[in-house]
Amino acid sequence: MKFDIQPNTSPVPQSERDIILQDPGFGTVFSDHMVVIKYSDDKGWYDAKVTARAPILLDPAASVLHYAQEIFEGMKAYKTPDNKVSLFRPEENARRFQKSAKRMAMPELPENIFLESVKQLVTIDKDWVPSIEGGSLYLRPFMFASEVFLGVRPSKEYLYMVIASPAGGYFKSGTPAITIWATEEYSRAAKGGTGAAKCGGNYASSLSAQAEAIEHGCDQVVFLDAAEGKWVEELGGMNLFFLFDDKNIVTPPLAGTILPGITRDTIITLLHDRGYDVKETPYSIDQWREDAISGKLKEVFACGTAAVVTSVGKVCSKAGEFSMGNGGPGDVAASLRDQITQIQCCIGEDPYGWGMKLDC
Ligand SMILES: *Cc1c(COP(=O)(O)O)cnc(C)c1O
Repeated sequence: MKFDIQPNTSPVPQSERDIILQDPGFGTVFSDHMVVIKYSDDKGWYDAKVTARAPILLDPAASVLHYAQEIFEGMKAYKTPDNKVSLFRPEENARRFQKSAKRMAMPELPENIFLESVKQLVTIDKDWVPSIEGGSLYLRPFMFASEVFLGVRPSKEYLYMVIASPAGGYFKSGTPAITIWATEEYSRAAKGGTGAAKCGGNYASSLSAQAEAIEHGCDQVVFLDAAEGKWVEELGGMNLFFLFDDKNIVTPPLAGTILPGITRDTIITLLHDRGYDVKETPYSIDQWREDAISGKLKEVFACGTAAVVTSVGKVCSKAGEFSMGNGGPGDVAASLRDQITQIQCCIGEDPYGWGMKLDC
């Protein structure tokens, strides 16, 4: 697929960009360009372009605005020590994007077009990749139903886009260990639902739960299974790991209600290599409480592209609260975070070839 490259004629001046990149925050400032590819049932994928980032015109009857046929991905571009730019396992994002599309009855964007679109945007906006420690250019590929039609059926037209936003740290407080709220009120996904798809609707339905967490003074919400309200699933946007004595690890299984995180997969592989016994098996909130109080549980951490690896220090719920050890950050979480961020920036060993350095 050929991309029509239309450079932004009034990009953000370098002096302004340099100031932004010193402390970009998360998700509020954007690079100069975006990718747009159209799809229709008749023409397939067409009209690929890299163009100045700008608002898009949507008809009020565009079906995404009514029935929420929308999916997205989240990935990052990193600055390498030799001043190049790298991606981390981007083909995994491409594959997951296809799976999400399938679940939401949307067309599957070919893997090579997804990868090319991301590379094109990173190349033209490479000066937007922050050099600060922990900095990255957050990339947001997404697709939505754009057909002007109010009937309930899959849209016949879609827009695929990629935008980019420089990012510093993820959690505002920058705290080393987070506190999470175990909600009994809300669930995130049920059997047969869309829990394994990265779709906007999952996030829309998680916001009340996240608000409940914040009301209780917590940073994030943890969801339990929808059927029994017993089994630990994941946070609003991060997967969970439980570390016990003697190199035993538990993480909830991918049984359709959990988002298959690429960071989750990365951590499972790295822990295996370190000699851990990683079990993908259900773990209940009651067991969690018991193991935390008895001291059997050594560390709990959450993971995802945005925050990489973050220790969970405390869990609160209507039943009371409990802490992991002294409630501080864990050593295994910290060492995994270091190892992963090094691979992402193409520093140190990368036995699986996960880092992809771009020539731009
Ligand atoms: C994106 C996401 C994750 C983390 O996936 P990564 O590929 O590791 O970034 C976890 N849970 C949910 C609900 C997500 O949307």
